[in-house]
Amino acid sequence: MDDLTFGKRNKRGDWAPDGRIETAPVFTLPPKPLAFLKWLPHYFLPWNVLFAASAVAYWHFIVPEAEVLKTFHFAWILRLFLVNCVAVFLFYGAFELRLYILRAQDNRFKYNGKFPGDNKNPAFLFNSQNADGIIRTFGMALPIWTALEVGILYAYANGLVPWVSFAAKPWYLFGIALVMPIFHEAHFFAIHRLIHWAPLYRWIHSVHHNSVNPSPWSSLSMHPVEQLLYFSAALIHLIIPSNPILAIYQLHYSGFGAVVGHLGFDKIELGAEAAIDSHAYTHYLHHKFFEVNYGDGLVPFDKWLGTWHDGTKESDARMQARYEKRKARANAATAAK
Ligand SMILES: [Zn+2]
Ligand SMILES: [Zn+2]
Repeated sequence: MDDLTFGKRNKRGDWAPDGRIETAPVFTLPPKPLAFLKWLPHYFLPWNVLFAASAVAYWHFIVPEAEVLKTFHFAWILRLFLVNCVAVFLFYGAFELRLYILRAQDNRFKYNGKFPGDNKNPAFLFNSQNADGIIRTFGMALPIWTALEVGILYAYANGLVPWVSFAAKPWYLFGIALVMPIFHEAHFFAIHRLIHWAPLYRWIHSVHHNSVNPSPWSSLSMHPVEQLLYFSAALIHLIIPSNPILAIYQLHYSGFGAVVGHLGFDKIELGAEAAIDSHAYTHYLHHKFFEVNYGDGLVPFDKWLGTWHDGTKESDARMQARYEKRKARANAATAAK
């Protein structure tokens, strides 16, 4: 595919899509019914349906019976952990293999013209973005993900929280499943904004931002505190009446979904004509500029709070003006001391 019919490449080799990125036409005033209907299939396909299906399959084939879940036992906990590790290895690894190792589409649709693996970077463990990401993903993110999952399943099995069955209230649970990505976005925006507060940023979130040019293994390359906050979205299913399959869906949405925003490519080519949109540009701009796009645009929190960057020159200018204003404030504060 010719990526220059969809965007431009600058002298450094960085590609950017034409036009502006838009937030989802869900919470807009006045409402945009036509845009909403056009957007709606993208809400489900391909990612949300994939993660919902993976949760259902996981529940049926991997999670043991409720009787077994009633007691913590090394065997079933290890089984869940290993399956999670293999699933992440295969899912993340597929993107890494195709886009970064085989470079099947070279740098077509690639936001940053450089491949992180080509340069050593002392910010990372072993000077390697990949090694750092892989160690943090399997060493910390997956144990934290699995621990939350085990705790949630144990709570359901022992009746510590209400377990609503699909037979009893299918529409209620379907409704919860439908708004789960919106809850994810709100939760993610809140924790993400919080860890951009300077002291927490230095301590926690700077680890994730070492990947200025994100690639698949950057996705869960975070400080363990951030990983815990990130996956804690699933705890909502212990607070509201829900079902363990939905809790697993929430975990899969966080765990597998993270890679989508860190692909580094705008489109994943499928042959010469077809491609899947990654919608990763929003979060790519966050990694590039740090102080814009704290959310992914499903709910326009960034627009409401003045931190939205839609990829245009006007957004650049607004961001610059905000930065100058803050610098002037900081200078004035220093001068007053
Ligand atoms: Zn990120
Ligand atoms: Zn950030």
